[in-house]
Amino acid sequence: MTPSSPFPSPLPSPALAAPFTQGLAARVLRYQRCTSCGTAQTLARYACQHCGAPSLDWHEAQGTGRVQAVTVVGRAPSDSFRALVPYTLVLVQLDEGPRLMAHAQPGVQIGQRVQAGFFVHDQTTLVRFSPQPG
Ligand SMILES: [Zn+2]
Repeated sequence: MTPSSPFPSPLPSPALAAPFTQGLAARVLRYQRCTSCGTAQTLARYACQHCGAPSLDWHEAQGTGRVQAVTVVGRAPSDSFRALVPYTLVLVQLDEGPRLMAHAQPGVQIGQRVQAGFFVHDQTTLVRFSPQPG
């Protein structure tokens, strides 16, 4: 599809998530915060998950948080990820409040403080959490 295509993409999410994905490319973790109730969320949405307000601002996260869940992926969900198997995924609650699913250094534990880092896989910048020093 060329930029001049008369057909708009049926999926709004890539454009909606652009501040997040462009942030990753710049090695910055961004999240949305509702301007109405203050709830923070990392998945780009049109409206606040908490109160439904359509007013969301983008903010930059420090990249620090606490591990809430850990899973080791032994079977790649796509060809692109086959080279990484096995890999560790974590659900991290960022200090700003939102939760983020991302890669992690093997061996991280639930409850551990972690710091976000970045790596490039298949021309896409992804988040990988490591234990926070200190
Ligand atoms: Zn809200």
